[in-house]
Amino acid sequence: MAVITDYISLSTKGRRDVIDITSQIQDIISAGKIKSGIAVAFSPGSTGAITTIEYEPGLKKDIDQFLERLIPYGGNYHHHNTWQDDNGAAHLQAAMIGPSVSVPIIDGALSLGTWQQVVFIDCDTRPRTRKVIVQILY
Ligand code: ZN
Repeated sequence: MAVITDYISLSTKGRRDVIDITSQIQDIISAGKIKSGIAVAFSPGSTGAITTIEYEPGLKKDIDQFLERLIPYGGNYHHHNTWQDDNGAAHLQAAMIGPSVSVPIIDGALSLGTWQQVVFIDCDTRPRTRKVIVQILY
């Protein structure tokens, strides 16, 4: 088995900014001429999340409202006492969604559904510069 390691750089607005990273992952697969394997995208940061969703404006608002209902930014979290931080909600939102996805590569392409994209969600309370790790196992 061989591994390609690459990175995607993102500038986010924070506050559950949802960014489609599908084409960047596919570009790494295509550049490596990989026909069959597994692509893993991982967020090395505890307030960033990666999942799949249909990337369209309505669902971007829905996921924002859904997370705010479950884990509101204005809540009182123990994390704030630990570090005098303000982003306890961001950590919990990211933990609930999870930090990574794995997608099978078939015939040189991510085997996503027609209306399914890989997205990075920045749950933190402020704009951030992010780096997503992409590994291709083949
Ligand atoms: Zn924190």
